[in-house]
Amino acid sequence: MTDVRIMKPYIAFAEVEDDLRQVFESGVFTRGHNVETFAAEVSAYTGAAYTSLMTSATTALWTCLKLLEIKAGDEVAVADFSWPATANVVEDLGAQPIFIDVNQETFNMCPKDLANKITNKTKAVLFVDALGNPTGLHEIKSICDQYKLPLIEDAACAIGSSENGVKCGSIADLTCFSFHPRKLLCTGEGGAITTNRSDWAEWLRMKLMHGASGTRGVGLDFISYGYNFRMSEIQAVLGRKQLASLDLITDERNKIRESYIVGLESLGFIPQKIGKTATHNIQSMVFRVPNTVNRDKLIFDLKANGIETTLGTYCQSGTSYYQKKYNNKQPISANLEKTTITLPCFEDVPVDYIIEKITHLISV
Ligand SMILES: *Cc1c(COP(=O)(O)O)cnc(C)c1O
Repeated sequence: MTDVRIMKPYIAFAEVEDDLRQVFESGVFTRGHNVETFAAEVSAYTGAAYTSLMTSATTALWTCLKLLEIKAGDEVAVADFSWPATANVVEDLGAQPIFIDVNQETFNMCPKDLANKITNKTKAVLFVDALGNPTGLHEIKSICDQYKLPLIEDAACAIGSSENGVKCGSIADLTCFSFHPRKLLCTGEGGAITTNRSDWAEWLRMKLMHGASGTRGVGLDFISYGYNFRMSEIQAVLGRKQLASLDLITDERNKIRESYIVGLESLGFIPQKIGKTATHNIQSMVFRVPNTVNRDKLIFDLKANGIETTLGTYCQSGTSYYQKKYNNKQPISANLEKTTITLPCFEDVPVDYIIEKITHLISV
């Protein structure tokens, strides 16, 4: 058996060859019809009114905080169990990330802990669909509505997921996606912001065009200062191709999840819980390992057997930087970082072989 990677992109060169050739032949590498069409397709798919295509989820999150005028002295409530980009964007703008602990089963922001930590300095709530799981998003939204706080969704992992029949992208006030190769839809690097507010969409369009809006004389009218975190035509070609088959991909990944559960539940492995009204795209296939299993040793042993796995994700409040600065490690999130494992999940992943290896390794 050759080495088993944790993830493989769902795209082959042959599928995009013709469209890429057209980009080269037209000479239009930015702000062309692929970007425009992919943005419209992301809006249609998610049900959001407006989409801005970005260079990454990190620039998307940062831009959303700028839009909300988050600044020094402000607090932003952040789901703690996440890739540290979530807290980093808050920190970078001089505001304080307030780490909210997560639910042990779903790995998502705990509503009670959020309500306890909202103060008069809180300016926004940053929910994370942990590993693609949107469970509990509407409950957090109702708390935000109650306190009149804007809800940003770090849906970096969650393209294709939904709760209460609504796709991620049209639930929160602002939703940020990632199209990094570890996610389900891969444009190399890339991301998106979706929103239903036309004034925010207008602001994003202007800011992402260096602050220009309309024309002045023969040139542009720069009505503000701005940025460029825009996606290119080449990236949009890749995105369009994959979005068309995304629902098939998430269905298939849910079947892979079922196979893993059949093999591993009897060994005491507990899968990330999905709420009854939620659908999960299974961006990552994550289990909590049983108490009797040394998680780190299992990851090393699987690696020695040619199977790539990793931890679930990070307890941001427990990273060297945030632990030192705020000394406020969240217990459930910290425990999940220590006890979770991400297993390989992609088309034709050899599930039975992986289960067999795990069964053997934890019994010796
Ligand atoms: C991957 C990820 C990010 C960062 O996405 P990039 O597109 O690489 O910037 C942010 N938040 C979460 C939860 C992620 O999983």
